[in-house]
Amino acid sequence: MLEKNRLRIALQKSGRLSSESYNLLIKCGIKINFQHNQLIAFAENMPIDILCVRDDDIPGLIVDKVVDLGIVGENVLEEKLFIKDNVKKKKFYNLLIRLDFGICRLSLAIPKNSAYYGLDSLKNKRIASSYPNLVTQFFYKKSIPFKLCILNGSVEVAPRAGLADVICDLVSTGTTLEANDLKEVQTVFNSQACVICRLGHIENSKQIIINKLMNRINGVIKARESKYIMLHAPISKLNEIISLLHGAENPTILKLAGEKNRVAMHMVSSETVFWETMEKLKSLGASSILVLPIEKMLE
Ligand code: ATP
Ligand code: MG
Repeated sequence: MLEKNRLRIALQKSGRLSSESYNLLIKCGIKINFQHNQLIAFAENMPIDILCVRDDDIPGLIVDKVVDLGIVGENVLEEKLFIKDNVKKKKFYNLLIRLDFGICRLSLAIPKNSAYYGLDSLKNKRIASSYPNLVTQFFYKKSIPFKLCILNGSVEVAPRAGLADVICDLVSTGTTLEANDLKEVQTVFNSQACVICRLGHIENSKQIIINKLMNRINGVIKARESKYIMLHAPISKLNEIISLLHGAENPTILKLAGEKNRVAMHMVSSETVFWETMEKLKSLGASSILVLPIEKMLE
């Protein structure tokens, strides 16, 4: 049984967002024992219940206040909560944080051998998509007429199957398009996974847990983006070395035993450290250069 005073979070049961959503909660210190095919999982160490559902159901569960939080792609949110001719956009949820996964774009693609000279070449074409609202909104704003073919899967085979001239589907690397002889011609919507919260009154005890969770999620994302850098450097080159490491906070400078002209530097950088940067550091006289992942971070 679900208890009303426990925070309820909806996650995608199985799909592209599932493992990263579960792992994020586990990294935030929530102890959950997920069983395969289980609809509800109970956290052992916090008053949190997890509902495992299809991603399409998450916006509705948030709007109906069945769950307090949900992790879902912005593409699904926009598609499901779209109101026709919405001049004033009604608010259905609060977006708490955009996450660092589920990054993709809804794009228009056409067969490689089709001519393309801008969006006008798609006029009156038949467009296959699982996102009828987003496609319609996009073409409506551009005043370009089109025909819609709604497909709930295998959209990329629609041109070959003679069902459509154009597709509008999610793309991340483009390999699926490539494998189906399609070329991407226009982005319709950029998306990533996000945490959303239901509207309406939230009990204080739940709000405290939401705040704690958001701080931890922020910390997990920051830690994933950051690196801990340690190196030995000649004192004369400290400024040049620091300027090479964009995104690094003020370094800690430590004495090196038995060395007068060299010190150890420790710093956290919010940017990826590429091999090229490490090679430049070395050419400035740095040595013992270590770039380490960070497990957790609280600012
Ligand atoms: P469900 O059975 O839960 O309805 P689904 O088949 O509709 O799942 P998935 O393919 O698992 O959905 O994708 C879930 C979400 O992952 C998408 O709505 C989108 O936000 C994101 N996503 C989709 N394709 C990609 C991709 N190629 N790369 C990264 N994220 C993606
Ligand atoms: Mg879905």
